[in-house]
Amino acid sequence: MQPKQTLSATAISGQTFDYIVCGGGTSGCVIAAGLASIPDVSVLLIEAGRDSGLAPDVLVPGKYVKQLQDKDGL
Ligand SMILES: Cc1cc2nc3c(=O)[nH]c(=O)nc-3n(C[C@H](O)[C@H](O)[C@H](O)COP(=O)(O)OP(=O)(O)OC[C@H]3O[C@@H](n4cnc5c(N)ncnc54)[C@H](O)[C@@H]3O)c2cc1C
Repeated sequence: MQPKQTLSATAISGQTFDYIVCGGGTSGCVIAAGLASIPDVSVLLIEAGRDSGLAPDVLVPGKYVKQLQDKDGL
């Protein structure tokens, strides 16, 4: 499997990919991972949202209700 890289929009300008998956959520990540497991296939996964590492509460199931109430959100 190819190494994973996180790149800025500027860094990928002019590059081509075999597949472009829009949305790095649950479904998009599964699809992109499946495609990336095919040898010699290049995949670009585009995610509009911020890195969940910037809002670690999303990784704590007990904070589910709090996230729905937060106006700041992600
Ligand atoms: C707070 C919360 C807790 C949850 N907890 C659970 C749980 O415990 N168990 C469970 O089974 N389900 C849970 N769910 C539901 C689960 O998250 C969703 O059903 C699932 O993520 C839907 O997957 P998806 O791929 O359709 O959409 P998402 O996972 O929402 O992915 C869509 C992605 O597309 C991105 N996107 C949108 N527009 C663009 C664009 N123009 N360009 C690039 N990217 C774009 C979004 O930023 C997002 O990351 C929870 C949902 C929430 C909100």
